[in-house]
Amino acid sequence: MSRRILVLAGDGIGPEIVAEAVRVLERLREAHGLDVALEEGLVGGAAVDATGSPLPEATLEAARRADAVLLGAVGGPKWDGLPRERRPERGLLGLRKGLGLFANLRPAILYPELADASTLRPEVVSGLDLVIVRELTGGIYFGEPRGIRTRPDGVREGYNTEVYAEDEIERIARVAFETARRRARRLCSVDKANVLESSELWREVVTRVGAEYPDVELSHMYVDNAAMQLVRAPKQFDVVVTTNMFGDILSDCAAMLTGSIGMLPSASLNAEGRGMYEPIHGSAPDIAGKGVANPLATILSVAMMLRHSLDEPELAARVERAVGRVLAQGLRTPDIAVPGEPTVGTREMGEAVVAALDG
Ligand code: NAD
Repeated sequence: MSRRILVLAGDGIGPEIVAEAVRVLERLREAHGLDVALEEGLVGGAAVDATGSPLPEATLEAARRADAVLLGAVGGPKWDGLPRERRPERGLLGLRKGLGLFANLRPAILYPELADASTLRPEVVSGLDLVIVRELTGGIYFGEPRGIRTRPDGVREGYNTEVYAEDEIERIARVAFETARRRARRLCSVDKANVLESSELWREVVTRVGAEYPDVELSHMYVDNAAMQLVRAPKQFDVVVTTNMFGDILSDCAAMLTGSIGMLPSASLNAEGRGMYEPIHGSAPDIAGKGVANPLATILSVAMMLRHSLDEPELAARVERAVGRVLAQGLRTPDIAVPGEPTVGTREMGEAVVAALDG
């Protein structure tokens, strides 16, 4: 039976970049034996305009039925004034929650051709290839109690709770070890175990799970050191696993090592390995509708989907090779071009990847 993919283009540049990713999927279906059925749905501002809600029930239902969701991006100035629960971003949070997407995988790969795009020296980042596995549904962003209260002396205080249960740590650790197994078999767990009890337990549980993966080399690092090491010598990392908040910060830091927000994909997975795949960037309203957005992060998200949810590692590698090939040919959208270099548009880049798929 065909696997189902729900395609949610969203807002801003979303429809432009998703169209190119869909073109890639269609070519894999026509010429490379991929058996998938594509379905489209509404999310974000587009869904607000059509239905009043950023996540219509029909979209959530379709997402639950799907083997994987491909998402463009949501949001834009048009919807910034709406009340919080009707903001486009709520659509994303609702999908994460509704699908139980607890594991967020963010690779930071620097293609050798783009070494000049980084703010770090080329020798520090050239060949960079790491993945951050971030816990996505627990920790301080969700922990209770939380709030702002007034002390007896009249001074207000804000408080949040960092809380991790053993089973939450165990399942994210497993995703990280499995990810490391498919790569260079090195896993660094990042915590703050010298200060936080929740981190103490985190370290204990990750170590325990690690006993089941003797082929993966496990190390531990405090988060402050990890932040420093990421900019000092990022190539020491293969896979990094960490909590929701630490991962939020470190994954943005790692992404920017590559200097190219238009290049980086992400995956958010649930316990059954089903997931949502999206570029890490937003809807880029400043360039929406101009046909200049870089579609490669979305196309690389398709590669992650093929690997993690559709069990098609060879097709995933084919897509990644095709992207490498078009970069080697010198094709550049404006965001990854050296000033003065000739550039191509979204469509041309997508077509070049499709053509390179068959090689
Ligand atoms: P952004 O990522 O949309 O844009 C930041 C900068 O990067 C802009 O200059 C943009 O033109 C550029 N850029 C982003 N993607 C690009 C691409 N594929 N090709 C070329 N250039 C690209 O972040 P922002 O401007 O802070 O946010 C814009 C909107 O996107 C906001 O409404 C925000 O809430 C939303 N947002 C959505 C997501 C998501 O859907 N996952 C993530 C972040 C931001």
